Amino acid sequence: MTLSHPQPFALAIHGGAGTIKRSALTPLLTEGYHAGLRRALAAGHEVLADGGSALDAVTAAVMALEDEPLFNAGRGAVFTAEGTQEMDAAIMDGRDRSAGAVAGLFGPRNPILAARAVMEHSEHVLLIGEGALDLCRRQGLPMEDAPYFFTQPRWDALQAELERRRSGAPEDNSDGGADQRRHGTVGAVARDRDGNLAAATSTGGMTAKAKGRVGDSPVIGAGTFADNITCAVSATGHGEHFIRRCAAHEIDARMRWAGQTLDRAAGDVVAELGVIGGSGGLIAIDRDGRVALPFNCSGMYRGAIGADGLPMTAIHREEYRMALGSEDQSFQTPS
Ligand code: ASP
Repeated sequence: MTLSHPQPFALAIHGGAGTIKRSALTPLLTEGYHAGLRRALAAGHEVLADGGSALDAVTAAVMALEDEPLFNAGRGAVFTAEGTQEMDAAIMDGRDRSAGAVAGLFGPRNPILAARAVMEHSEHVLLIGEGALDLCRRQGLPMEDAPYFFTQPRWDALQAELERRRSGAPEDNSDGGADQRRHGTVGAVARDRDGNLAAATSTGGMTAKAKGRVGDSPVIGAGTFADNITCAVSATGHGEHFIRRCAAHEIDARMRWAGQTLDRAAGDVVAELGVIGGSGGLIAIDRDGRVALPFNCSGMYRGAIGADGLPMTAIHREEYRMALGSEDQSFQTPS
């Protein structure tokens, strides 16, 4: 894996995992994903290179991903079975385990800022409904209406899923399309120059989810976790399984109590999730800036950047792209 050696500062991001068949991705779409990931890496790296905090870096990276309609968070969030959009987000500071999260939210342009407002401007960890919206308004967070968040592909995906349910047809994921329609989430983890870790995750959840369903992303210890002693983690995948396994905290526990490396703990947890049907992956960073990005399906939109400032992005298992100057080069890495 890239960035598997210590770094003075580093950032990793994801834009969701699933069965991402190459045939389901046009070259234009593929380039759009890589470009979106690179923008998020650049936003976070700028913060870290300027001596900023891991917390600010993951906030900046996730905001960039929320603003990009290709990813299922903020603008471009998926729809519930009732045609609404309900967004979940969480952020955690590895210095003192302070954390903030929101669930089922519609309105704030950047749900990650809502989560951060809960952490910094309330005495709570998780807020929902009108109370969460009130806090966002009081903090002056930018709000948007339905047309801002709407994207035609997400709407079409909802109609396709509702039609499949009506017809009673089994789920056909042979081209990877079903997972791509259903899944998605964005996230970032970082280590700053002071050795502080942070994690942030934001999602629209799963297409055609029940109204009121909350996934793993805003559940601290499931989809999001950070502690300077061990690691910072942001997950993506079938949220119910990640919640049951306390996935993100499980990695912390194995490092803390069993002395495992980040690579081993993260890889094993993701593999075990795969065995019980929890398809997905996660990004994680340890106290020395080593990065792990395991997943148990055919792809995960992901990227990483270290102190050298060279962004690496990938979608499928073995391919990494590294932007060198204005030129993009694709290369293979051993898995
Ligand atoms: N984990 C998210 C959820 O269950 C979805 C995803 O990451 O694909 O809400």
